[in-house]
Amino acid sequence: MTPSSFSALGLSTPLLQAVKDQGYTHPTPIQLQTIPAVLAGKDVMAAAQTGTGKTAAFALPLLQRLTGSKAGTNHIRALILTPTRELAIQVAESFAAYGRHLPLKSGVVYGGVKINPQMMQLRGGLDVLVATPGRLLDLFSQNAVQFSQVETLILDEADRMLDLGFSDDLGKIMALLPKKRQSLLFSATFSDEIKRLTGQLLHQPVRIEVSPPNSAATGVKQWVYEIDSAKKAALLSHLLRNRAEGQVLVFTRTKKGADRLVGQLKREQISAAAIHGDKSQTERTRTLADFKAARIRVLIATDIAARGIDIHDLPRVINFDLPKVAEDYIHRIGRTGRAGAEGEAISLVSADEVPLLTAIETLLRRLLPRETVAGFVPKHNVPLTTLQKAKPKKPKKPKKTTVPAQPQAEPPPNRHRKPRWTGNKEEDTPKTRGKQGRGRGAVAGPKGAGPKGAAPRPNRTTPKKKNRG
Ligand code: AMP
Repeated sequence: MTPSSFSALGLSTPLLQAVKDQGYTHPTPIQLQTIPAVLAGKDVMAAAQTGTGKTAAFALPLLQRLTGSKAGTNHIRALILTPTRELAIQVAESFAAYGRHLPLKSGVVYGGVKINPQMMQLRGGLDVLVATPGRLLDLFSQNAVQFSQVETLILDEADRMLDLGFSDDLGKIMALLPKKRQSLLFSATFSDEIKRLTGQLLHQPVRIEVSPPNSAATGVKQWVYEIDSAKKAALLSHLLRNRAEGQVLVFTRTKKGADRLVGQLKREQISAAAIHGDKSQTERTRTLADFKAARIRVLIATDIAARGIDIHDLPRVINFDLPKVAEDYIHRIGRTGRAGAEGEAISLVSADEVPLLTAIETLLRRLLPRETVAGFVPKHNVPLTTLQKAKPKKPKKPKKTTVPAQPQAEPPPNRHRKPRWTGNKEEDTPKTRGKQGRGRGAVAGPKGAGPKGAAPRPNRTTPKKKNRG
Protein backbone atom coordinates (compact mmCIF):
# COMPACT_ATOMS: atom_id res chain seq x y z
CA MET A 1 0.00 0.00 0.00
CA THR A 2 1.67 3.21 -1.12
CA PRO A 3 0.65 6.51 0.50
CA SER A 4 -1.03 7.49 -2.74
CA SER A 5 -3.15 4.38 -3.17
CA PHE A 6 -6.92 4.36 -2.96
CA SER A 7 -6.81 2.01 0.03
CA ALA A 8 -4.63 4.47 1.95
CA LEU A 9 -7.46 6.98 1.60
CA GLY A 10 -9.70 4.91 3.82
CA LEU A 11 -12.14 3.63 1.21
CA SER A 12 -14.08 0.44 1.92
CA THR A 13 -13.52 -2.86 0.10
CA PRO A 14 -16.58 -2.62 -2.22
CA LEU A 15 -15.41 0.82 -3.38
CA LEU A 16 -11.81 -0.33 -3.80
CA GLN A 17 -13.12 -3.18 -5.92
CA ALA A 18 -15.17 -0.79 -8.05
CA VAL A 19 -12.15 1.46 -8.54
CA LYS A 20 -10.15 -1.57 -9.60
CA ASP A 21 -12.93 -2.60 -11.99
CA GLN A 22 -12.57 0.83 -13.60
CA GLY A 23 -8.86 0.24 -14.08
CA TYR A 24 -7.81 3.14 -11.87
CA THR A 25 -4.48 2.40 -10.22
CA HIS A 26 -3.77 5.65 -8.39
CA PRO A 27 -5.91 8.47 -7.16
CA THR A 28 -5.63 11.70 -9.11
CA PRO A 29 -4.52 14.83 -7.19
CA ILE A 30 -8.08 16.04 -6.66
CA GLN A 31 -9.06 12.61 -5.37
CA LEU A 32 -6.10 12.54 -2.96
CA GLN A 33 -7.26 15.75 -1.38
CA THR A 34 -11.01 15.50 -1.61
CA ILE A 35 -11.69 11.91 -0.55
CA PRO A 36 -10.35 12.24 3.03
CA ALA A 37 -12.09 15.60 3.53
CA VAL A 38 -15.46 14.26 2.38
CA LEU A 39 -15.09 11.09 4.42
CA ALA A 40 -14.45 13.29 7.47
CA GLY A 41 -17.79 15.00 6.80
CA LYS A 42 -16.27 18.36 5.91
CA ASP A 43 -17.65 20.89 3.47
CA VAL A 44 -15.43 21.26 0.41
CA MET A 45 -14.86 24.02 -2.11
CA ALA A 46 -12.82 22.63 -4.97
CA ALA A 47 -11.36 24.40 -7.98
CA ALA A 48 -11.33 21.46 -10.30
CA GLN A 49 -11.91 21.31 -13.99
CA THR A 50 -13.51 18.47 -15.76
CA GLY A 51 -10.99 15.79 -16.67
CA THR A 52 -9.24 15.83 -13.31
CA GLY A 53 -11.20 12.91 -11.90
CA LYS A 54 -13.42 15.14 -9.80
CA THR A 55 -16.49 12.94 -10.12
CA ALA A 56 -14.82 10.00 -8.40
CA ALA A 57 -13.36 12.48 -5.90
CA PHE A 58 -16.83 13.21 -4.58
CA ALA A 59 -18.71 10.05 -5.54
CA LEU A 60 -16.46 7.51 -3.81
CA PRO A 61 -16.46 9.06 -0.31
CA LEU A 62 -20.12 10.00 -0.62
CA LEU A 63 -21.10 6.42 -1.38
CA GLN A 64 -19.08 5.29 1.61
CA ARG A 65 -20.81 7.75 3.91
CA LEU A 66 -24.24 6.75 2.65
CA THR A 67 -23.67 3.04 3.21
CA GLY A 68 -25.62 1.62 6.14
CA SER A 69 -29.00 3.38 5.95
CA LYS A 70 -31.80 3.71 3.43
CA ALA A 71 -33.90 6.46 1.89
CA GLY A 72 -37.62 6.62 2.78
CA THR A 73 -40.42 6.69 0.20
CA ASN A 74 -39.89 9.60 -2.21
CA HIS A 75 -36.89 10.67 -0.16
CA ILE A 76 -33.34 11.22 -1.31
CA ARG A 77 -30.19 11.28 0.85
CA ALA A 78 -27.66 12.92 -1.43
CA LEU A 79 -28.37 15.46 -4.14
CA ILE A 80 -25.93 16.24 -6.94
CA LEU A 81 -26.89 19.21 -9.09
CA THR A 82 -25.39 19.60 -12.53
CA PRO A 83 -25.88 22.32 -15.16
CA THR A 84 -26.59 20.05 -18.13
CA ARG A 85 -28.40 16.88 -18.95
CA GLU A 86 -25.29 15.33 -20.43
CA LEU A 87 -23.30 15.95 -17.28
CA ALA A 88 -26.14 14.62 -15.15
CA ILE A 89 -26.17 11.38 -17.15
CA GLN A 90 -22.39 11.15 -16.96
CA VAL A 91 -22.29 11.67 -13.22
CA ALA A 92 -25.11 9.19 -12.66
CA GLU A 93 -23.21 6.61 -14.72
CA SER A 94 -20.18 7.18 -12.50
CA PHE A 95 -22.26 6.65 -9.36
CA ALA A 96 -23.66 3.45 -10.81
CA ALA A 97 -20.15 2.22 -11.65
CA TYR A 98 -18.54 3.18 -8.33
CA GLY A 99 -21.49 1.92 -6.30
CA ARG A 100 -21.93 -1.38 -8.11
CA HIS A 101 -20.79 -3.47 -5.13
CA LEU A 102 -22.88 -1.52 -2.63
CA PRO A 103 -26.58 -1.90 -1.80
CA LEU A 104 -27.32 1.75 -2.59
CA LYS A 105 -29.79 3.13 -5.11
CA SER A 106 -28.94 6.02 -7.36
CA GLY A 107 -30.91 7.78 -10.09
CA VAL A 108 -30.88 10.73 -12.42
CA VAL A 109 -33.52 13.27 -13.46
CA TYR A 110 -33.29 15.96 -16.12
CA GLY A 111 -35.54 17.87 -18.47
CA GLY A 112 -36.41 17.18 -22.08
CA VAL A 113 -37.81 13.72 -21.39
CA LYS A 114 -41.05 12.44 -19.84
CA ILE A 115 -41.41 13.16 -16.16
CA ASN A 116 -43.53 10.12 -15.24
CA PRO A 117 -40.78 7.49 -15.30
CA GLN A 118 -38.73 9.82 -13.13
CA MET A 119 -41.58 10.09 -10.64
CA MET A 120 -41.83 6.30 -10.57
CA GLN A 121 -38.11 6.00 -10.02
CA LEU A 122 -38.30 8.33 -7.03
CA ARG A 123 -41.23 6.57 -5.45
CA GLY A 124 -39.12 3.96 -3.68
CA GLY A 125 -36.62 6.57 -2.50
CA LEU A 126 -33.07 7.00 -3.75
CA ASP A 127 -29.81 7.24 -1.85
CA VAL A 128 -28.26 9.39 -4.56
CA LEU A 129 -30.09 11.64 -6.98
CA VAL A 130 -28.29 13.46 -9.77
CA ALA A 131 -30.45 16.24 -11.16
CA THR A 132 -30.60 19.35 -13.28
CA PRO A 133 -32.21 22.15 -11.25
CA GLY A 134 -35.35 22.86 -13.29
CA ARG A 135 -36.56 19.29 -13.51
CA LEU A 136 -35.83 18.76 -9.84
CA LEU A 137 -38.11 21.69 -8.98
CA ASP A 138 -40.79 20.32 -11.28
CA LEU A 139 -40.64 17.00 -9.48
CA PHE A 140 -40.78 18.73 -6.12
CA SER A 141 -43.83 20.72 -7.13
CA GLN A 142 -45.53 17.43 -7.96
CA ASN A 143 -44.63 15.96 -4.58
CA ALA A 144 -42.45 13.36 -6.25
CA VAL A 145 -39.37 14.15 -4.19
CA GLN A 146 -38.84 14.99 -0.52
CA PHE A 147 -35.73 16.70 0.75
CA SER A 148 -35.87 16.28 4.51
CA GLN A 149 -33.47 13.33 4.50
CA VAL A 150 -30.83 15.05 2.39
CA GLU A 151 -27.47 14.65 4.13
CA THR A 152 -25.20 15.89 1.35
CA LEU A 153 -25.51 18.44 -1.42
CA ILE A 154 -23.02 18.64 -4.27
CA LEU A 155 -22.93 21.43 -6.81
CA ASP A 156 -21.00 20.18 -9.81
CA GLU A 157 -19.67 22.74 -12.31
CA ALA A 158 -21.17 25.50 -10.22
CA ASP A 159 -19.72 28.23 -12.46
CA ARG A 160 -21.57 26.82 -15.39
CA MET A 161 -24.76 26.63 -13.44
CA LEU A 162 -24.62 30.34 -12.71
CA ASP A 163 -23.59 31.10 -16.31
CA LEU A 164 -26.66 29.31 -17.54
CA GLY A 165 -28.99 31.34 -15.36
CA PHE A 166 -29.75 28.74 -12.71
CA SER A 167 -29.03 30.95 -9.74
CA ASP A 168 -32.72 31.49 -8.89
CA ASP A 169 -33.43 27.79 -9.12
CA LEU A 170 -30.43 27.07 -6.92
CA GLY A 171 -31.68 29.51 -4.31
CA LYS A 172 -35.05 27.78 -4.26
CA ILE A 173 -33.54 24.34 -3.95
CA MET A 174 -31.18 25.44 -1.12
CA ALA A 175 -34.15 26.78 0.80
CA LEU A 176 -35.83 23.39 0.65
CA LEU A 177 -32.88 21.40 1.98
CA PRO A 178 -32.16 20.68 5.62
CA LYS A 179 -29.79 23.25 7.08
CA LYS A 180 -27.69 20.60 8.71
CA ARG A 181 -25.97 18.86 5.85
CA GLN A 182 -22.62 18.42 4.16
CA SER A 183 -22.12 20.62 1.10
CA LEU A 184 -19.50 20.35 -1.63
CA LEU A 185 -18.97 22.79 -4.47
CA PHE A 186 -16.92 22.08 -7.59
CA SER A 187 -16.17 24.78 -10.10
CA ALA A 188 -13.67 25.20 -12.91
CA THR A 189 -13.41 28.92 -12.32
CA PHE A 190 -13.88 31.07 -9.23
CA SER A 191 -15.62 34.30 -10.07
CA ASP A 192 -16.73 36.70 -7.35
CA GLU A 193 -20.20 35.34 -7.73
CA ILE A 194 -19.06 31.79 -7.09
CA LYS A 195 -17.15 32.98 -4.04
CA ARG A 196 -20.32 34.60 -2.76
CA LEU A 197 -22.25 31.40 -3.36
CA THR A 198 -19.68 29.39 -1.43
CA GLY A 199 -19.95 31.91 1.43
CA GLN A 200 -23.69 31.23 1.60
CA LEU A 201 -23.62 27.50 1.15
CA LEU A 202 -20.51 26.13 2.75
CA HIS A 203 -19.55 25.96 6.38
CA GLN A 204 -15.81 26.32 7.04
CA PRO A 205 -15.01 24.53 3.79
CA VAL A 206 -11.76 22.75 3.06
CA ARG A 207 -10.36 24.59 0.03
CA ILE A 208 -8.89 22.39 -2.66
CA GLU A 209 -7.19 23.51 -5.83
CA VAL A 210 -5.42 21.06 -8.04
CA SER A 211 -4.35 23.35 -10.82
CA PRO A 212 -4.43 27.12 -11.06
CA PRO A 213 -7.86 28.30 -12.11
CA ASN A 214 -8.38 29.51 -15.64
CA SER A 215 -5.74 27.23 -17.01
CA ALA A 216 -5.74 24.25 -19.37
CA ALA A 217 -4.79 20.58 -19.06
CA THR A 218 -1.03 20.35 -19.17
CA GLY A 219 -0.98 17.41 -21.58
CA VAL A 220 -2.88 19.35 -24.24
CA LYS A 221 -0.94 20.91 -27.12
CA GLN A 222 -2.74 24.00 -28.28
CA TRP A 223 -2.28 25.98 -31.43
CA VAL A 224 -4.08 28.15 -33.96
CA TYR A 225 -4.50 27.86 -37.71
CA GLU A 226 -4.97 31.28 -39.29
CA ILE A 227 -7.71 31.06 -41.89
CA ASP A 228 -10.31 33.15 -43.73
CA SER A 229 -13.72 32.48 -42.26
CA ALA A 230 -15.14 31.46 -45.68
CA LYS A 231 -12.43 28.78 -45.94
CA LYS A 232 -12.87 27.24 -42.50
CA ALA A 233 -15.09 24.39 -43.64
CA ALA A 234 -12.67 23.45 -46.43
CA LEU A 235 -9.74 23.59 -44.00
CA LEU A 236 -11.59 21.40 -41.54
CA SER A 237 -12.16 18.75 -44.23
CA HIS A 238 -8.52 19.01 -45.23
CA LEU A 239 -7.37 18.53 -41.64
CA LEU A 240 -9.72 15.61 -41.11
CA ARG A 241 -8.41 13.94 -44.27
CA ASN A 242 -4.74 14.68 -43.98
CA ARG A 243 -3.69 15.64 -40.49
CA ALA A 244 -6.18 14.72 -37.84
CA GLU A 245 -6.45 10.98 -37.44
CA GLY A 246 -9.04 9.30 -35.28
CA GLN A 247 -12.02 10.82 -33.62
CA VAL A 248 -12.42 14.54 -33.38
CA LEU A 249 -14.70 16.75 -31.37
CA VAL A 250 -15.45 19.95 -33.25
CA PHE A 251 -16.95 23.00 -31.58
CA THR A 252 -19.12 25.53 -33.34
CA ARG A 253 -20.71 28.61 -31.85
CA THR A 254 -24.18 28.03 -33.22
CA LYS A 255 -26.57 25.17 -33.73
CA LYS A 256 -27.04 26.10 -37.38
CA GLY A 257 -23.29 26.14 -37.88
CA ALA A 258 -23.09 22.66 -36.35
CA ASP A 259 -25.81 21.30 -38.64
CA ARG A 260 -24.24 22.89 -41.71
CA LEU A 261 -20.91 21.25 -40.97
CA VAL A 262 -22.50 17.86 -40.46
CA GLY A 263 -24.14 18.17 -43.90
CA GLN A 264 -20.90 19.16 -45.54
CA LEU A 265 -18.82 16.40 -43.92
CA LYS A 266 -21.40 13.78 -44.74
CA ARG A 267 -21.36 14.87 -48.38
CA GLU A 268 -17.62 14.27 -48.27
CA GLN A 269 -18.13 10.79 -46.82
CA ILE A 270 -16.82 11.73 -43.38
CA SER A 271 -19.10 10.35 -40.67
CA ALA A 272 -20.31 13.17 -38.50
CA ALA A 273 -23.19 14.08 -36.20
CA ALA A 274 -24.15 17.11 -34.22
CA ILE A 275 -25.21 17.50 -30.61
CA HIS A 276 -26.93 20.70 -29.59
CA GLY A 277 -29.94 22.15 -27.84
CA ASP A 278 -32.37 21.67 -30.75
CA LYS A 279 -31.85 17.91 -30.69
CA SER A 280 -34.10 15.88 -28.46
CA GLN A 281 -32.53 14.35 -25.41
CA THR A 282 -32.96 10.92 -26.96
CA GLU A 283 -31.05 12.03 -30.06
CA ARG A 284 -28.33 13.63 -27.97
CA THR A 285 -27.88 10.52 -25.85
CA ARG A 286 -27.82 8.28 -28.93
CA THR A 287 -25.33 10.47 -30.78
CA LEU A 288 -23.05 10.56 -27.78
CA ALA A 289 -23.26 6.77 -27.43
CA ASP A 290 -22.48 6.39 -31.16
CA PHE A 291 -19.47 8.68 -30.84
CA LYS A 292 -18.23 6.87 -27.73
CA ALA A 293 -18.56 3.55 -29.55
CA ALA A 294 -16.60 5.08 -32.50
CA ARG A 295 -19.52 4.63 -34.90
CA ILE A 296 -19.17 8.34 -35.67
CA ARG A 297 -15.81 9.91 -36.37
CA VAL A 298 -16.59 13.58 -35.95
CA LEU A 299 -18.87 14.94 -33.27
CA ILE A 300 -19.86 18.55 -33.77
CA ALA A 301 -21.05 20.26 -30.63
CA THR A 302 -22.08 23.60 -29.29
CA ASP A 303 -20.72 24.65 -25.93
CA ILE A 304 -23.72 23.84 -23.83
CA ALA A 305 -24.36 20.43 -25.30
CA ALA A 306 -20.70 19.50 -24.94
CA ARG A 307 -20.65 20.13 -21.24
CA GLY A 308 -20.41 16.82 -19.46
CA ILE A 309 -19.12 14.88 -22.44
CA ASP A 310 -16.55 12.49 -21.11
CA ILE A 311 -14.87 10.48 -23.82
CA HIS A 312 -11.85 8.38 -23.07
CA ASP A 313 -8.68 8.98 -25.06
CA LEU A 314 -10.16 11.69 -27.27
CA PRO A 315 -7.06 12.79 -29.13
CA ARG A 316 -8.25 16.05 -30.61
CA VAL A 317 -10.56 18.97 -30.20
CA ILE A 318 -11.00 21.47 -33.03
CA ASN A 319 -12.52 24.88 -32.41
CA PHE A 320 -14.20 25.66 -35.70
CA ASP A 321 -15.24 28.98 -34.15
CA LEU A 322 -13.74 30.52 -31.06
CA PRO A 323 -16.16 30.76 -28.17
CA LYS A 324 -17.51 34.18 -27.26
CA VAL A 325 -16.83 33.55 -23.60
CA ALA A 326 -13.12 32.90 -23.03
CA GLU A 327 -13.71 30.44 -20.18
CA ASP A 328 -15.57 28.22 -22.62
CA TYR A 329 -12.27 27.65 -24.42
CA ILE A 330 -10.94 25.99 -21.27
CA HIS A 331 -14.04 23.87 -20.96
CA ARG A 332 -13.84 22.89 -24.63
CA ILE A 333 -10.24 21.81 -24.65
CA GLY A 334 -10.76 19.97 -21.37
CA ARG A 335 -12.45 17.31 -23.53
CA THR A 336 -9.03 16.09 -24.61
CA GLY A 337 -5.99 15.25 -22.53
CA ARG A 338 -8.28 13.98 -19.80
CA ALA A 339 -6.91 12.23 -16.71
CA GLY A 340 -3.34 12.89 -17.76
CA ALA A 341 -3.62 11.74 -21.40
CA GLU A 342 -2.04 13.72 -24.25
CA GLY A 343 -4.28 15.70 -26.55
CA GLU A 344 -4.39 18.39 -29.19
CA ALA A 345 -6.56 21.48 -29.22
CA ILE A 346 -6.64 23.23 -32.58
CA SER A 347 -8.43 26.52 -33.21
CA LEU A 348 -9.36 27.82 -36.66
CA VAL A 349 -9.08 31.58 -36.25
CA SER A 350 -10.15 34.22 -38.77
CA ALA A 351 -9.34 37.95 -38.71
CA ASP A 352 -12.66 38.88 -37.13
CA GLU A 353 -12.00 36.56 -34.19
CA VAL A 354 -8.87 38.32 -32.98
CA PRO A 355 -10.60 39.99 -30.02
CA LEU A 356 -11.87 36.57 -28.91
CA LEU A 357 -8.39 35.10 -29.34
CA THR A 358 -6.92 37.92 -27.26
CA ALA A 359 -9.41 37.26 -24.47
CA ILE A 360 -8.57 33.54 -24.50
CA GLU A 361 -4.82 34.12 -24.54
CA THR A 362 -5.14 36.64 -21.73
CA LEU A 363 -7.06 34.09 -19.70
CA LEU A 364 -4.44 31.42 -20.44
CA ARG A 365 -1.70 33.95 -19.71
CA ARG A 366 0.13 32.95 -22.88
CA LEU A 367 -0.03 33.47 -26.62
CA LEU A 368 -0.95 30.44 -28.67
CA PRO A 369 1.42 29.34 -31.43
CA ARG A 370 0.10 30.02 -34.93
CA GLU A 371 0.28 28.05 -38.16
CA THR A 372 -0.97 28.35 -41.69
CA VAL A 373 -1.71 25.45 -44.00
CA ALA A 374 -0.45 25.48 -47.60
CA GLY A 375 -3.40 26.26 -49.87
CA PHE A 376 -5.32 27.87 -47.01
CA VAL A 377 -3.19 30.92 -46.24
CA PRO A 378 -5.69 33.66 -45.33
CA LYS A 379 -6.24 36.65 -47.60
CA HIS A 380 -7.41 38.63 -44.61
CA ASN A 381 -4.54 39.14 -42.25
CA VAL A 382 -5.13 37.73 -38.76
CA PRO A 383 -3.46 40.44 -36.67
CA LEU A 384 -0.97 39.41 -34.02
CA THR A 385 -2.23 39.55 -30.48
CA THR A 386 -0.86 40.79 -27.20
CA LEU A 387 -1.80 39.76 -23.71
CA GLN A 388 -4.07 42.28 -22.04
CA LYS A 389 -3.46 43.50 -18.55
CA ALA A 390 -6.05 42.21 -16.10
CA LYS A 391 -8.64 44.93 -15.52
CA PRO A 392 -8.92 46.14 -11.95
CA LYS A 393 -12.02 44.58 -10.51
CA LYS A 394 -14.90 46.85 -9.55
CA PRO A 395 -16.48 45.86 -6.28
CA LYS A 396 -19.81 44.34 -7.20
CA LYS A 397 -23.05 44.62 -5.34
CA PRO A 398 -24.01 41.29 -3.88
CA LYS A 399 -26.36 39.49 -6.23
CA LYS A 400 -29.40 37.56 -5.27
CA THR A 401 -27.91 34.12 -5.30
CA THR A 402 -29.23 34.13 -1.83
CA VAL A 403 -31.19 31.49 -0.14
CA PRO A 404 -34.74 32.73 0.28
CA ALA A 405 -35.79 33.05 3.89
CA GLN A 406 -39.01 31.09 3.41
CA PRO A 407 -38.91 27.70 1.80
CA GLN A 408 -41.01 27.76 -1.33
CA ALA A 409 -43.17 24.79 -1.86
CA GLU A 410 -43.51 25.38 -5.60
CA PRO A 411 -41.24 26.82 -8.21
CA PRO A 412 -42.79 30.02 -9.50
CA PRO A 413 -44.09 29.64 -13.02
CA ASN A 414 -42.23 32.74 -14.19
CA ARG A 415 -39.50 31.46 -16.42
CA HIS A 416 -38.93 34.67 -18.32
CA ARG A 417 -35.75 35.87 -16.78
CA LYS A 418 -32.81 36.14 -19.08
CA PRO A 419 -29.93 33.80 -18.53
CA ARG A 420 -26.95 35.98 -17.75
CA TRP A 421 -24.91 33.82 -20.03
CA THR A 422 -24.97 35.56 -23.34
CA GLY A 423 -22.08 33.99 -25.18
CA ASN A 424 -23.74 31.39 -27.27
CA LYS A 425 -27.07 31.21 -28.92
CA GLU A 426 -27.67 27.78 -27.53
CA GLU A 427 -31.02 27.42 -25.94
CA ASP A 428 -31.07 24.80 -23.31
CA THR A 429 -31.35 27.22 -20.44
CA PRO A 430 -33.99 27.96 -17.85
CA LYS A 431 -35.33 30.61 -20.21
CA THR A 432 -36.19 28.16 -22.92
CA ARG A 433 -37.00 25.14 -20.90
CA GLY A 434 -40.64 25.13 -21.90
CA LYS A 435 -39.93 23.58 -25.26
CA GLN A 436 -38.93 20.10 -24.18
CA GLY A 437 -39.71 20.16 -20.53
CA ARG A 438 -37.44 21.80 -18.00
CA GLY A 439 -33.97 21.27 -16.71
CA ARG A 440 -31.16 21.07 -19.12
CA GLY A 441 -29.17 20.08 -20.03
CA ALA A 442 -12.10 21.63 -18.00
CA VAL A 443 -7.10 23.27 -16.56
CA ALA A 444 -2.40 25.42 -16.16
CA GLY A 445 1.12 25.93 -17.03
CA PRO A 446 0.31 25.18 -20.65
CA LYS A 447 2.89 23.99 -23.07
CA GLY A 448 3.74 25.90 -26.19
CA ALA A 449 3.86 22.98 -28.50
CA GLY A 450 2.54 22.87 -32.03
CA PRO A 451 1.53 20.05 -34.31
CA LYS A 452 3.89 17.24 -35.07
CA GLY A 453 6.12 17.98 -38.00
CA ALA A 454 5.21 21.65 -38.06
CA ALA A 455 7.30 24.39 -36.59
CA PRO A 456 4.97 26.70 -34.75
CA ARG A 457 5.63 30.37 -35.20
CA PRO A 458 7.21 31.76 -32.09
CA ASN A 459 5.03 33.68 -29.76
CA ARG A 460 5.51 37.37 -29.67
CA THR A 461 4.31 39.52 -26.91
CA THR A 462 4.22 42.64 -29.07
CA PRO A 463 2.95 42.88 -32.60
CA LYS A 464 5.87 43.32 -34.99
CA LYS A 465 3.81 44.65 -37.85
CA LYS A 466 0.19 45.19 -38.34
CA ASN A 467 -0.17 43.65 -41.76
CA ARG A 468 1.50 40.60 -43.00
CA GLY A 469 0.93 39.76 -46.63
P1 AMP B 1 -13.95 13.68 -14.43
O1 AMP B 1 -12.97 14.80 -14.16
O2 AMP B 1 -14.64 13.24 -13.20
O3 AMP B 1 -14.88 14.03 -15.55
O4 AMP B 1 -13.12 12.39 -14.90
C1 AMP B 1 -12.35 12.38 -16.08
C2 AMP B 1 -11.98 10.97 -16.52
O5 AMP B 1 -10.94 10.45 -15.66
C3 AMP B 1 -13.10 9.96 -16.46
O6 AMP B 1 -13.06 9.27 -17.70
C4 AMP B 1 -12.75 9.02 -15.34
O7 AMP B 1 -13.19 7.71 -15.62
C5 AMP B 1 -11.25 9.08 -15.32
N1 AMP B 1 -10.66 8.87 -13.98
C6 AMP B 1 -11.16 9.28 -12.80
N2 AMP B 1 -10.33 8.93 -11.80
C7 AMP B 1 -9.29 8.27 -12.34
C8 AMP B 1 -8.10 7.65 -11.81
N3 AMP B 1 -7.83 7.66 -10.51
N4 AMP B 1 -7.25 7.05 -12.67
C9 AMP B 1 -7.53 7.06 -14.03
N5 AMP B 1 -8.63 7.63 -14.60
C10 AMP B 1 -9.51 8.22 -13.77
